[in-house]
Amino acid sequence: SGDNSDLKALIRTIPDFPTQGIQFRDITTLLLDAEGFALTIERMTAMVDGPIDAVAAIEARGFVFGAAIAREIGAGIVLVRKRGKLPGGTVSVDYALEYGSDSLEMHDDAIPQGARVLVVDDLIATGGTVLAAVKLLRGAGAEVGQSLFVIDLPDLGGSAKLREAGVSSDSLFEFE
Ligand code: 5GP
Repeated sequence: SGDNSDLKALIRTIPDFPTQGIQFRDITTLLLDAEGFALTIERMTAMVDGPIDAVAAIEARGFVFGAAIAREIGAGIVLVRKRGKLPGGTVSVDYALEYGSDSLEMHDDAIPQGARVLVVDDLIATGGTVLAAVKLLRGAGAEVGQSLFVIDLPDLGGSAKLREAGVSSDSLFEFE
């Protein structure tokens, strides 16, 4: 279906996770559905805009979708991870959370100069996570023009912020 409502119906909403008042959009129920997962990858792959040298997948749910999309388009995968997980030399970027800050890392030799990189994650909310990844990737010499998600929460403004940074964001469906 054109609005991907068949796939949206496979998302489970869990109230008050991880904290009171948050409606967590749980993609594990989508992943459990073999046809739903296959259609998700097929439709996300169809949204890929232009030639891509590497997919940057964001830990941890972004790995699931990013890996499958990379396989479909014949690109390699750059793992963008939480602090302290990668064994080689890394570059890192700090980003603000609602309370405190966190950081993302990738290997310092992961990006060939000028590589065209597609960023993939499961969901965009405020955009803080993906914007940090874009900063990391561009700092390493990547060209980042597009990001791809299963879910957008447009009320939180992330996709608008990405657009201001020159990165288009595409998603299969939205939740208010
Ligand atoms: P942002 O940085 O855009 O505010 O938050 C997006 C990041 O937090 C993504 O890495 C995403 O996996 C995670 N996230 C935040 N809220 C949710 C949610 O309701 N469901 C899922 N699956 N992930 C979420």
